[in-house]
Amino acid sequence: MVTLIKNAKVYQPEYAGVQDILVLGDRIAAVGENLRADFGGSVEVEELDASGMAAVPGFIDSHEHILGGGGEGGFHTRTPEAALKDLIMNGITTVVGCIGTDGVARDMTALLAKAHGLENEGISTYTYTGSYQVPVQTLTGSLMKDIMMLDKVIGVGEVAISDHRSSQPAFEEFARIAADARVAGMLSGKAGIVNVHLGDSPRHIDLIERVVHDTEIPASQFLPTHVNRNEGLFQACLQFAKEGGTIDFTGNEDIDYWETICDEVRVCKGIRRLLDMGISSDRFTISSDGQGSMPIFNAEGEYQGIGIGKASCLLKEVRECVQRENIPLETAVKGITSNVASILKLGSKGHIKAGFDADICLLAEDTLELRTVMAKGNIVVRDGEQMVFGTFEKA
Ligand code: ZN
Repeated sequence: MVTLIKNAKVYQPEYAGVQDILVLGDRIAAVGENLRADFGGSVEVEELDASGMAAVPGFIDSHEHILGGGGEGGFHTRTPEAALKDLIMNGITTVVGCIGTDGVARDMTALLAKAHGLENEGISTYTYTGSYQVPVQTLTGSLMKDIMMLDKVIGVGEVAISDHRSSQPAFEEFARIAADARVAGMLSGKAGIVNVHLGDSPRHIDLIERVVHDTEIPASQFLPTHVNRNEGLFQACLQFAKEGGTIDFTGNEDIDYWETICDEVRVCKGIRRLLDMGISSDRFTISSDGQGSMPIFNAEGEYQGIGIGKASCLLKEVRECVQRENIPLETAVKGITSNVASILKLGSKGHIKAGFDADICLLAEDTLELRTVMAKGNIVVRDGEQMVFGTFEKA
């Protein structure tokens, strides 16, 4: 299968000008000007005219509850699983599945089965082992064994700290998790990342800071998430990023509402502040928390029900960075492409360059609306319509 994408404004994510992209099988074979693919008629070549479009790497969502999440309001408040369309219709071609609060009624067996299912449907999937809970509930009975021997497992998480729903791990317990994940990652050539759920308590990221300062484990072992949950937490996380850590913003489709009831930091404003502090644009990622639960309150602060995190927020946040904060697209999009691939050590992901996986999103240049999505060389969304088993359907 050969696809030639013509005349796209290519963001590798660094802006590379108007280029063609040649895709052979599931890989990018070449990026360059006036590329031609001529096999003397023996191979069918699909040409895709991308004039007026920006080509960016397929999005990598480092934190998505693909199995559903929630349940904090009782069993009837458990949220549904992610469907393929929830991901690809929002440009996500690689997803890392995590469990969350409930590591009892949802476990690693089910999470891995779900990840394999999405992979069969055409995207790339990984998982963390465990949930909020400590000791970490694994598949094999050993955190190290899960990371080393299960192909899809690239780290541990989301381990919850500074939250009333956390297992309240002691420093030694938390440091041991990071140490085991680190060594298992080294031994298997994976990131061994510790994805840490940050709650809203004033203890912020104290536990992570202590591990980084009091042990030999570096800041790069951690990917703390929900860093923009409140202003105090965000300030602590900016300091962590300044010291070389990478911080993960959680996108929010309904931020106009949330800004009125709490001090959650709007993602584009947070990224603007990070850049203005002189922190490297390599030091942030954005994830969706898709299918996770978000309790909703009315103006009087009364519990109304549970909303659901949406995978659509990734592109929306990048669009806001560009349109509201004048952050260049090539900088903003790093947070959902190359920066994620780097911290999670996904070597063939996150770039539009020869040899990388053919995961590509085409966006309308002016509005940054998603038009076409290629995952592992297959066009899975075409002109805004999802491709299902060989046909195109309105999603
Ligand atoms: Zn979380």
